[in-house]
Amino acid sequence: MLEERIVACQQNALVAAPSVMRRLRDRIEGDIEKSEGDVKLTILGSGTLVPSGSRNSAGYFVELPDARIMMDCGAGTVHALARYRVPWEQMTHLFISHFHVDHAGELASLFLAFRHGMETGRVDPLTIIGPAGLDRVMDGLKMAYGPKTFDVRFPLHIRNVTPGGVVDLGKDSRLLVAKTRHTAESLAIRIEEGHHAVCYTGDAAYDDELAEFFSGADLLVSECSFREPRAGVAHMSVSEVARLATRAGVRKLVVTHCYFEVNESELKQSLEREYSGEVVIGCDGLKISTE
Ligand SMILES: [Zn+2]
Ligand SMILES: [Zn+2]
Repeated sequence: MLEERIVACQQNALVAAPSVMRRLRDRIEGDIEKSEGDVKLTILGSGTLVPSGSRNSAGYFVELPDARIMMDCGAGTVHALARYRVPWEQMTHLFISHFHVDHAGELASLFLAFRHGMETGRVDPLTIIGPAGLDRVMDGLKMAYGPKTFDVRFPLHIRNVTPGGVVDLGKDSRLLVAKTRHTAESLAIRIEEGHHAVCYTGDAAYDDELAEFFSGADLLVSECSFREPRAGVAHMSVSEVARLATRAGVRKLVVTHCYFEVNESELKQSLEREYSGEVVIGCDGLKISTE
């Protein structure tokens, strides 16, 4: 069964005193007991490219027994790694879904954090996984910010993946990618740990094959860009997200990446009209575990 625990929505962080937040965090984190085979997901950024006081651009951190994976790296997510106290220095994989800046804009900041901001003497390798074009993006950042941008003191592997690709993450875990209809390179991801699966759409238009890829997952994090479908726009509307989750038969749907003003109860109700699983409206700092 899935269980969700809100550690600290950024909205709360804006109004609560630090000591209150610390007590809240300690209380809730003390409550979280990770059992064998669980997958834990933390939302680092539930927003889009629109400047927001409470929602960073896209970013997620997934913790498995054998791997720690950051998915996307949009504006605000590097500081969110510390704010939401995820073990970022022990990150084993970084997945980039596509090269829009709200998903990849803090790549250089992340690697400079690995170079200058770590408290541990990390030696374990890190693998960056992304679509074709990842090398070009990294080379461009080196040109812009200097040749040492990705020069970290541990082995760095770059792995281009194509739709259908699989990457082993550990003894019982693997990562799979599928094409999304968004940009030429855009990918969705499915992370499997034993019998658990956690999926993320990246940015995507609705399609039946994508629903098939997410089939039976414990948790689907989905973009939900617009209230109503928009012709010719490669994103999903509320009813398309509900259709995707229903067709995939996922147990829990977490919606993020909304370009409209989110009224949580209204949005939840709209999704629940067409999808019978559990709906969560994502917010920064939300932590969800499979159990
Ligand atoms: Zn995009
Ligand atoms: Zn986006």
